[in-house]
Amino acid sequence: MKKRGKIIIFAGPSGVGKETVKKLFINDPRFKLKYSISATSREKRIGEKNGDNYHFLTRSKFENWIKKDRFLEWVTFANNYYGTPYKFLENHLRKGQNVLLEIDLVGVKKVIKKYPDAVTIFLLPPTIADLEKRLLARKTENITEIKKRIDIARAEIKEKDLFKYQVINKTPENSAQKIIEILKKELL
Ligand code: 5GP
Repeated sequence: MKKRGKIIIFAGPSGVGKETVKKLFINDPRFKLKYSISATSREKRIGEKNGDNYHFLTRSKFENWIKKDRFLEWVTFANNYYGTPYKFLENHLRKGQNVLLEIDLVGVKKVIKKYPDAVTIFLLPPTIADLEKRLLARKTENITEIKKRIDIARAEIKEKDLFKYQVINKTPENSAQKIIEILKKELL
């Protein structure tokens, strides 16, 4: 029988730079990483593609997926639904591939309960002011949205000890290098 793959949880406050850092390690062939594409009811941002960044669903379609039990976990975050589809994850784990989940803190707790051997990595901003600056600069949310995300970030950072690994995002290259070292230790 094939050895089961592992779950890698890559979390961090909204706006910390997960997307940029992820691009620098996700395709490293040594780690056989598959990115789990979440479903969400939030609006698509400029440049985002359906089935690439997220499965963009209407609220009612998302609720339909909940009813059909298609999620390993789902949450409401900043007034929108987000969820991890179950089938993709299990299929790849069974094939021996490792699956990367990029989810919020509430989701992390749910996943750890079901998969206690998941490898958990938290990407932190150098400071909250830094995070605020980044959220303002990317211009994807309005000011009310940004405030909501900063409040959530403060709460999430307080719970950073939930994670086995914590990486301060000084530069994307530096963070990616640290994550590669973690993955070498955990997966190879
Ligand atoms: P964003 O709207 O910035 O793409 O994501 C907002 C937050 O939702 C981020 O912290 C992101 O990691 C989280 N998120 C994305 N997909 C999921 C998911 O499937 N489940 C959970 N619990 N959180 C998610």
